[in-house]
Order: sequence, then C-alpha cells, then structure tokens
Amino acid sequence: MTRDIIIIGSGPAGLTAAIYTARANLAPLVIEGEPSSTSDQPGGQLMLTTEVENFPGFPDGIMGPELMMKFREQAARFGAEFLTAKVTKVDFSERPFKVWVRDDLYTADAIIVSTGAQSIMLGLEAEQRLLGHGLSTCATCDGFFFRGHEIAVVGGGDSAMEEALFLTKFATKVTIIHRRDALRASKIMQERAMANERIAFRWNGVVADLVGTDKLEGVVVQDTVTGERETLPVTGLFVAIGHRPNTDLFQGVLDMEDTGYLMTKSGSSYTNVDGVFACGDVQDHTYRQAITAAGSGCMAAIDAERWLEATRHA
Ligand code: NAP
Repeated sequence: MTRDIIIIGSGPAGLTAAIYTARANLAPLVIEGEPSSTSDQPGGQLMLTTEVENFPGFPDGIMGPELMMKFREQAARFGAEFLTAKVTKVDFSERPFKVWVRDDLYTADAIIVSTGAQSIMLGLEAEQRLLGHGLSTCATCDGFFFRGHEIAVVGGGDSAMEEALFLTKFATKVTIIHRRDALRASKIMQERAMANERIAFRWNGVVADLVGTDKLEGVVVQDTVTGERETLPVTGLFVAIGHRPNTDLFQGVLDMEDTGYLMTKSGSSYTNVDGVFACGDVQDHTYRQAITAAGSGCMAAIDAERWLEATRHA
C-alpha cells in the first residue's frame, strides 16, 4: 500500500508535521527512530534535556521528554501511525518514493524529512550521566539555570563564543576551555568574548573528565602542553564543539551544504526533489530551537498537503 506521506524523524518538527498532516486526513506514517540511539532517538534532542522553560504555552516549564510525549499523543489522536525503527535506505529517484527499514519497504507519494541534528559530544563516559544535570549543549535553553554560578564552555568556534557571551547574562564567570591557544571563531566574536570581563580563557586544555554523580561539580582539564590536570570547580559545562545534521541517509539523494545540512528553497520546506520536504534542525543551523523546528514542521505539512493536492489534480 502506498501512503500519502511518510515522515522520517520524530522531534518537534516531525511530530508537528504529523499533527498537521493527520488533521488533513493524510494518515501519515512517522518512522520515529530507535530508543537506544543517541542520534535518532524518538522525540529527538529534547529527549536529552531536562526542563524546557522557553516553549510557549508552558508557563511553569515542562520536561523535554514529557513535551515530546504530548506532541506524539496529539499526532496519534488524529490518526498518525508510528513505527519505532530507524530508516536504513531511501530511494527518491521516482514516485512513489521508497523508504526501507532493513528489508521492509514502505512507499509514499510525499516524504517529510525531519531527522534533526545532534550536538557533537566529547566522548566521555560521564557525559551520559550528567547531560541535563549541569552538562548542557544549549545555552539558550539552559543558561537561566546558572544564575550566579561559575561555569565553563568547551570549544573555540563561533558557537562557543556565542554561548559564552549569552551565558554571561546569568553566570558570574564563564571559562572557555579550548584545546589550542588560538580560536577558530570569527574575529568579531573573538573580540567580543575577549572584551567581556566575565569571560576567562583556559588555553591548551582538553576536558578529560567530569566530576559529580548526579550533578556536575567540576571539570577536569588536562593541559595539552604540560600534561598536567586541574579541576575547575564549575557547576555547569556547555559543550559547543559543533553540530552534525543526521543526513547520512540522504547523501547523493538530496542537495546539502558542505556541512551536511539539507538545502531547502528559501521561505519553504521544498528540497531539490519534488515531493520531498525537509524541516527542523536537519535544514536549520541558525535557530535550532524546538519552537522554530515545530514551526517549520507545520510549513512542511502545509507544503506537502498542497503539493499532493496540486499533483493529483494536475
Ligand atoms: P566549529 O567552527 O567547527 O568549531 C568547533 C570548535 O570546537 C573548534 O574550535 C574546535 O577546535 C573545537 N572542537 C572540535 N572538536 C573538539 C573536541 N573533540 N574537543 C575539544 N574541542 C573540539 O563549530 P561551531 O562553532 O559550532 O560553528 C559551526 C559553523 O556555524 C561555523 O561556520 C560558524 O562560523 C557558524 N556559526 C556562526 C555564528 C555566528 O556568526 N554568530 C554562531 C555560531 C556558529 P579547533 O579549533 O582546535 O578545531
């Protein structure tokens, strides 16, 4: 059976697209990812956060996983179907489009890609335990919790400078830990960070370990020159060493930037393949917020619905 729509990915973008397409009677199949995976877990990056305080409509805040559960329930209520699995291959060269989960083939007239992105992490064992408990990958989301604290940011690019500058609104001191003695960030961002009295730099330092069992109590920094270790007594660490969009599946299939982000036509969710739409972080490296992802999921659903309507009546 060929479906109207398959949605690949189930973060705020995919689930919003599911709500809208389900309400348009398109009975979407959402292939939501696999729970064990850190890159494509159902619910997306919000499953790795604790409290979300900036999603409109929740004046008292809401836990990330609970918010995603509500999105999912809302989509299911209108008839969205869910498959808890990871897409292993796609063929968008002709319609109906083909999507495989291992040996099982699913076909649809339109596809919405919302596979999201993942923060690149340091690769420390303690990261799993402390993510959302002092360790964060999003200053906009979590900065507020560190009012009056001393914290650190790891990274030397524009993201690290931006996160550190934003965090000085809350923290009394922000130490930028960078593995070299020169920043990768643009000149203007470097200058801003260096001019800020609340920002200090720990050059030639790599984060070797995190201290704390259920909340972060310190960061062990190893000097790349001397090999010596010291513990910075910080209560927060923001990892800002880059993001990676989840687009391996679409290499050679959909147009993407050098960084792997999918390209969409300006002001829309259209990709280079007619009938394939993209929304959320997989095509947005600028805003990367749950609310903007949800907004773009709504755009993709409306684009797909109108496109289906137009092609069927052509
Ligand atoms: P990025 O430019 O790739 O910088 C990543 C930084 O993290 C680098 O300094 C790198 O160190 C460091 N790093 C990478 N892996 C590491 C590891 N395992 N351990 C410790 N440090 C590690 O990434 P980004 O800052 O996220 O920026 C991505 C793109 O978005 C860039 O083109 C950037 O200009 C753009 N951006 C722009 C703005 C803005 O203009 N306001 C804001 C954010 C991002 P090395 O330097 O030693 O490689």
